[in-house]
Amino acid sequence: MKIILLGPPGAGKGTQAKLISDEYSIPHISTGDIFRKNISEKTPLGIEAKGYMDNGQLVPDDVTIRIVEDRLSMDDCKIGFLLDGFPRTTKQAEALDSFLNSNGQKIDTALLIDVPREFILERMTGRRVCPTCGASYHIKFNPSKNEGKCDACGSSLIQRKDDTEETVKERLDVYDNQTQPLIQYFDNQNKLSRVDGTGDIKEVFQDISNVLGAV
Ligand code: ADP
Ligand code: ADP
Ligand code: ZN
Repeated sequence: MKIILLGPPGAGKGTQAKLISDEYSIPHISTGDIFRKNISEKTPLGIEAKGYMDNGQLVPDDVTIRIVEDRLSMDDCKIGFLLDGFPRTTKQAEALDSFLNSNGQKIDTALLIDVPREFILERMTGRRVCPTCGASYHIKFNPSKNEGKCDACGSSLIQRKDDTEETVKERLDVYDNQTQPLIQYFDNQNKLSRVDGTGDIKEVFQDISNVLGAV
């Protein structure tokens, strides 16, 4: 199964991606996680990406496309993959199409997790993440069992620097201007599926499982 997860920041892509990747045994590829790992390791890619991310802007397409192509070229992606946070621009979507085409592959579905704007701010400002394994929690909607510690690996949870109210607003504008057009892009290819992302985490996952079962 080759899946793209679409949706605004805070829609629950990362949360659902972990569940889907366990269920279907496919690698979860999050461009945000790749950039954050590079930032914490202070690699040249991390140093370049940091300025954009801290301001809620997108990392330039050429850099982003290259890291995704490198990742998709690895052996574990042959059976399938789940892209979370990529593509985010029409240019990225076109590059992905041509990369997969030239390898005789194609996307099965682009799954939109639909969450209206009024839900987003509370989800984002209450988000806490694990810097080690990338797991995402919420102080109200999905607290960890031990306060402040990751259930999966025990690391101390942190708040992302870009999850402040001001940066979230900027990221939502970036989403509306640059990423939202991809909904039409995949619909034109008859690849779009949608789930309502406003229910609780289990309900959304149930809806996703139903959709993926029918793809
Ligand atoms: P994204 O990867 O789309 O930015 P996340 O999966 O990190 O989103 O989720 C954003 C925040 O909302 C996190 O704090 C997460 O725990 C919480 N969250 C995810 N799904 C739901 C849901 N269905 N209902 C309420 N909160 C959710
Ligand atoms: P969220 O789903 O909460 O918006 P991500 O972890 O997916 O967060 O992305 C965090 C930041 O990483 C983005 O605001 C952007 O700066 C950068 N980023 C992630 N994916 C991409 C991409 N495909 N293209 C450009 N920038 C990206
Ligand atoms: Zn962890």
